[in-house]
Amino acid sequence: MAQNSRKKPNILVTGTPGTGKTTTSFSLAEATQLRHINIGELVREKNLHDGWDDQFDCHIINEDLVCDELEDLMEEGGNIVDYHGCDFFPERWFDRVVVLQTDNSVLYDRLSTRGYTGSKLSNNIECEIFQVLLEEAKESYPEDVVVALKSDTVDDITRNVASLTDWVRSWQPKA
Ligand code: ADP
Ligand code: MN
Repeated sequence: MAQNSRKKPNILVTGTPGTGKTTTSFSLAEATQLRHINIGELVREKNLHDGWDDQFDCHIINEDLVCDELEDLMEEGGNIVDYHGCDFFPERWFDRVVVLQTDNSVLYDRLSTRGYTGSKLSNNIECEIFQVLLEEAKESYPEDVVVALKSDTVDDITRNVASLTDWVRSWQPKA
């Protein structure tokens, strides 16, 4: 199928763990009726991994298996993909790449509440300080596709979901 022949757009919501990807994606899916795909859950449910990474305390995801699993849905369009990485998905899949960003001290509190401690906590805070996901998104997708959105407060989520919903409604399939 040719590039962008889909009738509905695909959106990638990325960012450091705790920046609000799942909360934002869930709410955006409700507002737009697009399909929310939480990659972490998909990997667990379908075993798309190569075991457990003790250092980073997470599954070692098998990127090829994940991409194979999603190809048909992405071709169809209408997906919100939720993941803390973005460089292994095909560039052609996404019409918008949203990078959520959170103030360090706010993120610190959120991740502590989530039970993160030690290097798992500090690695994620560093990831946010150095804007790792924004850089990764800029390297992997065209400039006009990537958008960074602040996600410090519940009002930010409301505003982000509203503006993304407007974007979805005005999106046109490529001729
Ligand atoms: P992620 O999927 O990026 O790891 P979540 O959506 O699971 O993040 O959010 C982590 C926690 O932080 C949840 O308890 C959520 O309610 C809270 N949270 C996320 N974003 C915001 C925000 N913009 N304002 C207030 N709380 C938030
Ligand atoms: Mn999440």
